[in-house]
Amino acid sequence: MTHMPLLTGKRAIITGSTSGIGLGIATELAHAGVEVVLNGLGDVAKIEQVRAELAAAAHVRVLYHAADMTQPDAIEDLINYGVSSLGGVDIIINNAGIQHVAPIDEFPAAMWDKIISINLTASFHMIRHALPHMKHAGWGRIINIASAHALVASPYKSAYVAAKHGIAGLTKTVALEVAQQGITVNAICPGYVWTPLVEGQVADTAKARGMSEEQVKTEVLLKAQPTKQFTTIAQLGALACFLCSDAASNITGVMLPVDGGWVAQ
Ligand code: NAD
Repeated sequence: MTHMPLLTGKRAIITGSTSGIGLGIATELAHAGVEVVLNGLGDVAKIEQVRAELAAAAHVRVLYHAADMTQPDAIEDLINYGVSSLGGVDIIINNAGIQHVAPIDEFPAAMWDKIISINLTASFHMIRHALPHMKHAGWGRIINIASAHALVASPYKSAYVAAKHGIAGLTKTVALEVAQQGITVNAICPGYVWTPLVEGQVADTAKARGMSEEQVKTEVLLKAQPTKQFTTIAQLGALACFLCSDAASNITGVMLPVDGGWVAQ
């Protein structure tokens, strides 16, 4: 893959970037010249290895902050850490997310609260703490990693679909509030991407639907996507870089599907 340092000097905070899509976007941004703060859960030594390898490969500063997205105070600390360590924050990628698959009448109430907290409310806190810095600079990019499930539903994912539809409303509202201040607010809506999050739901979906795991892959996941292809992490990283570029300065308030035609149906 070729990387063009289009965004040299920008500073980004990417939630949930110790794995999957978030790490992919962090990697693309770093190779485009952006200094990044990684965030997410996981083994401390492995995270440090990822951080150091990315910094060495991309030749930019790569930091890490362990804020738990269920904790509003920790989210404020994350923004403050990014600003004090890198001198500001130009880009936030609200990506951290979890999933739970169960019929609504069996859905654990605590899991509902956790999904709404990480997948929706954390983005509110990230945005409200980052925006003053972006307004001061007169430039900013907010990218919410939503989902095709921000636009359409699937059964047994009530909390996730509700949170992601909520992200759609948040994206459009904030886009309007800051439209004249050099700040764009958009959501990327991936279809299925093969990451630990998707891998982890195959067994539960198989149980909920009474299918084998192989049937879930072909008859549930890829069935939704007319191209019959999983979306790749690299494709999402490239789109995030484009949305951060000046060429995308008049794209705001948009829900951008990257889903092989899923929501066109
Ligand atoms: P993933 O499980 O690989 O990564 C999730 C990241 O979020 C990890 O870094 C994890 O540590 C972090 N995280 C989880 N709980 C956290 C918490 N409490 N505090 C801080 N970080 C936390 O998942 P992924 O597939 O890369 O998903 C990333 C985003 O993309 C999610 O918002 C997800 O809803 C969205 N998405 C994924 C797909 C897909 O098919 N994989 C499709 C559409 C949307």
